[in-house]
Amino acid sequence: MIFESLGDKLQDTIGKLRGKGKVTEQDVDEAMREVKLALLEADVNFKVVKSFVKKVKERSLGSDVMESLTPGQQVIKIVMEELSALMGDNAEKIDFSKNPTVILMTGLQGAGKTTTTAKLARLLKKQNKRPLLVACDVYRPAAIKQLEVLASQVQVPVFAQGTDEDPVAIARRGVEHAKANGNDVVIIDTAGRLHVDEALMDEIKGIKEATAPTEILLVLDAMTGQDAVKVAQAFNDALSITGVVLTKLDGDARGGAALSIRSVTDVPIKFIALGEKLDALEVFHPDRMAKRILGMGDVVGLIEKAEEFVDEKKAKELEEKIRSQTFTFDDFLDQMQQMRNLGPLEDLLGMLPGMNNKAMKNLKIDEKEFARVEAIIQSMTKKERTHPEIIDSSRKKRIAQGSGTDVRQVNGLLKQFKELRKMMKKLGAMNGGKGKRKMKM
Ligand code: GDP
Repeated sequence: MIFESLGDKLQDTIGKLRGKGKVTEQDVDEAMREVKLALLEADVNFKVVKSFVKKVKERSLGSDVMESLTPGQQVIKIVMEELSALMGDNAEKIDFSKNPTVILMTGLQGAGKTTTTAKLARLLKKQNKRPLLVACDVYRPAAIKQLEVLASQVQVPVFAQGTDEDPVAIARRGVEHAKANGNDVVIIDTAGRLHVDEALMDEIKGIKEATAPTEILLVLDAMTGQDAVKVAQAFNDALSITGVVLTKLDGDARGGAALSIRSVTDVPIKFIALGEKLDALEVFHPDRMAKRILGMGDVVGLIEKAEEFVDEKKAKELEEKIRSQTFTFDDFLDQMQQMRNLGPLEDLLGMLPGMNNKAMKNLKIDEKEFARVEAIIQSMTKKERTHPEIIDSSRKKRIAQGSGTDVRQVNGLLKQFKELRKMMKKLGAMNGGKGKRKMKM
């Protein structure tokens, strides 16, 4: 989970303040010492930590906080606000005023640039844009192929001219191609290097001059911590980047890069990537992230996620099935798969308020249970899925064998399904009476 260790420590520290009816200067001092250590351990830039702690302390010791009825809560609120401010407070949007909007992707090798390019195309497509990807990494033939494979997965066209052409010329022609073909966004994937070097910067400067991009996004690997911050500074000095995409936050990145980049370089983090899959890219919301780190939940984020993944048509069909009482095991499987599309359950629960790291650990989520249920349903015949009442003991045995489970587990699922149908019957009756009431999932 993102910021797990930092979250643990900060939640511990602020937990001690929460219920306090009276907070002394010493309490604040102590809490801030702990906060400081936690941030340093998370690899946050030293200067950033120092100024953060100073600000929180000053605000916390103000008379309005100390004399309030809930000083503990006030201090927590200040920590949250300052944490959010550290990362830039509000989400920074991409400027689409130019048509086509040109987005130049840059970064070191392995940071996740090509993957992010495809993820971003997918995200923009969902916003009804018509992106074109341009393959300017001419040094590795495999890079063009990789971009083409990823692009086909998200069904976005690629403009490529092999490895013999000059990247600046390819970029320029790519933009022309977009204009001629009605693509309103051009995302240019450029070559990476192992280290920041002058030849790389010169090439990207050339592409920048030739294509006048609205956005220059630097892709950075969050796992590299303070190195990522240094890379950001170097790229910004050379190219005036407009934003950062921080990748691999699903790994055990301690969070230092996310918390330092904005303060050190003044460049906003615009997106974060939380996995290798092509749907694992999110707009970065500093305020929501601060809340998540402190275990305060991110309800807005959760709803947005659900909205992105819930298929309206399927939701309608489901509603109809509930009304007409024809819900089958196939529908059950479908629902389960839709839920899993939202991401690991743990991540989802982590977005609920009150679900701090400790509560999550007590609540062990068995992802295997999902797989087991799936296997049982998949071992049923078509008829059994629609008419589970025909499943007698010999069928149960066969299903158990086919799914590598036992009859007890098959019975358990059948019972659960029966209960679910009963509940739906009631729901269907209720909804049917009122005519068209909208229901999701
Ligand atoms: P590039 O050299 O910068 O173009 O990097 P690639 O896009 O080829 O990515 C390098 C590796 O990092 C690939 O194996 C990607 O699957 C992986 N990767 C990219 N983004 C993420 C992410 O957010 N999380 C994880 N876990 N892996 C990622």
